[in-house]
Amino acid sequence: MKNIKGYTLKELRELFTSMDEKSFRADQIFRWLWVKGAEDFEKMTDISKALRERLKNEFYISSLEPAHVSTSRDGSIKYLFKLEDGETIESVFIPEGKRRTVCVSTQVGCGMGCKFCATGKIGLIRNLSFYEIADQVLSVQKITGERITNVVLMGMGEPFANLDEVLKALRIINKHIGIGARKITVSTAGIVPGIKRFAETPFQYKLAISLNAAIQEKREKIMPVAKAYTINDIMDALDYYYSRKHLRVTFEYVLFKNFNDSEEDAEALGAIASRIPSKINIIPYNQVEGFPYESPDEDDVNRFAEYLYPIAPAVTIRWSRGRDVHAACGQLRGMYT
Ligand code: SAH
Ligand code: SF4
Repeated sequence: MKNIKGYTLKELRELFTSMDEKSFRADQIFRWLWVKGAEDFEKMTDISKALRERLKNEFYISSLEPAHVSTSRDGSIKYLFKLEDGETIESVFIPEGKRRTVCVSTQVGCGMGCKFCATGKIGLIRNLSFYEIADQVLSVQKITGERITNVVLMGMGEPFANLDEVLKALRIINKHIGIGARKITVSTAGIVPGIKRFAETPFQYKLAISLNAAIQEKREKIMPVAKAYTINDIMDALDYYYSRKHLRVTFEYVLFKNFNDSEEDAEALGAIASRIPSKINIIPYNQVEGFPYESPDEDDVNRFAEYLYPIAPAVTIRWSRGRDVHAACGQLRGMYT
């Protein structure tokens, strides 16, 4: 038996042609799978009984089932989804005003080895397939019963280390699940060839860069990938992205106590952010066992933001959601596997 969700629309059309079925049937089935979230061929009422029988004999429809759920006091819900091979990934539902955001994983673990991140500690186990990425959005929508409005690729994994599958997934999330391209944000640790390729796609997906330190030497201390792609390389790639998309980028800046929270750090960050149309998200660090870095106090965060306000274009503080349920990326998997 094969998983019918493992086919892109193009592949499904080819498959149907090779099965001597009309290729538009593929479009119908694809709509059942990705627009309506059908989990059973029997539900596909506009498909003939004969074809449904044939499909049932040859294919199954995968879906993601939560192996663990934790609800935070702030309303965010974290799901640990079990994949077909038994691996687990995390997705987080974040309600905020009228927004319903899902934070999605792109890999099992991550190979970037950032020295503060729980997912980095796991290492790379494997890439997710496009359907495993897109299914996280469908599943969370189904389980919560809430229409998802925004998607962020900020869960486990480095999206630009799995770009082919990520782009296929984004197409489905955008076109079929129906999330506007500008409501989809991809976050990268700064893989320059990925930024360039992303810039060349014809879609208006948004980009976030996990800068985390605005001084090159400091960045190298916490993010090994910073040695391969320096802040200058990233800025050149972002100029290119902006020239193609005319979309503001987001700089994410995880704030660590007594590491990257000084006035000098703020000045360096302000200078970088002023070079292109951008905004800054300050994310107070969620402490992870086994790493030396500490979460900043509220005072540290406010002080850092005060340094930034006069020199940076736009600054928001993103108080980590779901702190009480270990919502920082990779923490839940670490506890339940
Ligand atoms: N690999 C991609 C996307 C996933 S990480 C990237 O790094 O951008 C998503 C964000 O979570 C990154 O900005 C990362 O710096 C941040 N992050 C990781 N661990 C964290 C922690 N313990 N506390 C706060 N932010 C964290
Ligand atoms: Fe990977 Fe992002 Fe974690 Fe770095 S911060 S280890 S790139 S998931």
